[in-house]
Formats: sequence, structure tokens, C-alpha cells
Amino acid sequence: MPQRSLSACPCCHQPIQNTASLCPHCQAEKHYGPVRRESLLCALCGLALILGLTRLLFPQLFAPFSLWVIPLMLAGLAAGFIFAQFRFAGDRWLRPNKR
Ligand SMILES: [Zn+2]
Repeated sequence: MPQRSLSACPCCHQPIQNTASLCPHCQAEKHYGPVRRESLLCALCGLALILGLTRLLFPQLFAPFSLWVIPLMLAGLAAGFIFAQFRFAGDRWLRPNKR
């Protein structure tokens, strides 16, 4: 039997087991990495950023619409998604609903 060690829940500060991934008191959940909403948001930010930059630097790609914009958009999405992986790497405790 491993020793039962307790730590405090970062959300409600009630004692919980170190290995627990769900707080029994406030239902906060231990989460690794970005949640889907954050990945999506960062990907969309990357997309908006790259579209804005492209429009600024190479306006000729938009009139008429060039097919080059499509791989650029995909690159923006991918860059934003990867950024989210780094930005939210590590363990976090998420409250079920924020107030
Ligand atoms: Zn808690």
C-alpha cells in the first residue's frame, strides 16, 4: 500500500489525495494540456493573425483570391494550435463552472 498523502485542492483548499484527479469537494478536475476550447481559440487567433499579416504584406493574394491563401490559413491554424500546446502545457485544476 502506498502511503496516503494529502494535499490541498487549489480551488477550494479542502484536503484531497495527491493522486486524485477530481476534487470530491468542489468537483474541480485535474487537467493536462489545453482544453479543446483553448486549442480552438488559439488556432483561430493564429488564423486571424496570419490572414491579417498576409493581407497587409501581400494584398495581391486577395484580389483575386489566390489559392496560396489556403495553405497559409492552414499554417496559421496549425501554428495557433501548437502555440496552445505550449501555452497550456502542464497540470492545471479546472473548476467545473467559473463564477
Ligand atoms: Zn476542491
